[in-house]
Amino acid sequence: DLGLIQRGLARLTGGRGVETVHALTDVNLSVQRGEVLGIVGESGCGKSTLGRIASGIYAATEGSVTLDGQPVAQERGGRTQKLTTKVQMIHQDPFASLNPRMKVGETIGEGPRLNHLAKAPEVRARTRELLEQVGLEATYVDRYPHQFSGGQRQRIAIARALAMNPEVLVLDEAVASLDVSIQAQVLNVFTDLRRDLGLTALFISHDLSVVRHVCDRVAIMYLGRVVELADASVLYDKPLHPYTEALFASVPTLGTGRARFNPIKGEIPSPLNPPSGCAFHPRCPLAGPRCRAEVPRLRGTTVGRDVACHLHDGGTGVEAA
Ligand code: SF4
Ligand code: MG
Repeated sequence: DLGLIQRGLARLTGGRGVETVHALTDVNLSVQRGEVLGIVGESGCGKSTLGRIASGIYAATEGSVTLDGQPVAQERGGRTQKLTTKVQMIHQDPFASLNPRMKVGETIGEGPRLNHLAKAPEVRARTRELLEQVGLEATYVDRYPHQFSGGQRQRIAIARALAMNPEVLVLDEAVASLDVSIQAQVLNVFTDLRRDLGLTALFISHDLSVVRHVCDRVAIMYLGRVVELADASVLYDKPLHPYTEALFASVPTLGTGRARFNPIKGEIPSPLNPPSGCAFHPRCPLAGPRCRAEVPRLRGTTVGRDVACHLHDGGTGVEAA
């Protein structure tokens, strides 16, 4: 299981030393084995930062990220060292994430070779298998990235991640750059792999309609905090947090010919200088005096749902773990 705790503001230490990014506050999530957790929010909400902390690219500064109880990264001399190959990340841009000068077979086999996970002939055989597993031809090992479409490159990126035998995949906007029909194909590949391999995943996306098809639970993030955390069926049945409601209202209704589109009013504030109290209050139609003064905590409301909003502050009185 993947446990993610980031208390206070994140001071992130990436490969290039210390960067201060006020990106996440009081995030406390756990992902069960075999579960796919969606992380949804507008750009700048901290979801990519969360993905990078989860995959050990950044270290959590106050708190911890653990896989089965073991830390995924540690900070040493101002740099972050990733401690496990069991968490693998898949990035948004399939054009930038593959080395154009390497054959895809070399790219897929690079991680296992560098980490001495297997001998060269085994790695080559496995690379061909992986290409077939993501719906491509084994013979593509000798081709270069420019010979593939965006959707095919994203399949190659998935194969490269799987080559490390990960227990957790972190997908950050993994289909966002693809056409809608190609998105569906890549999501189907992911769903099949999930079923066959029992993958655990964090699925990060701004797109509620994409998340619906692949996630068991969904965390909605706003300005570095989780504002609603719910089983996907519960959330899609009825969003509760005013921000989640606004996100749903801003999704064009598909298939009606006429799109309903109500963009959320107001700008997203800077995470460096968040509004007092509930950070959503300047944009919230239901904000009252308490909202400007007091930060709402994430609390259990009904079965399968936690919400951080003063209007829903706990029918059960149980504070979310
Ligand atoms: Fe709106 Fe207040 Fe709830 Fe924040 S706490 S979402 S401002 S009602
Ligand atoms: Mg992002």
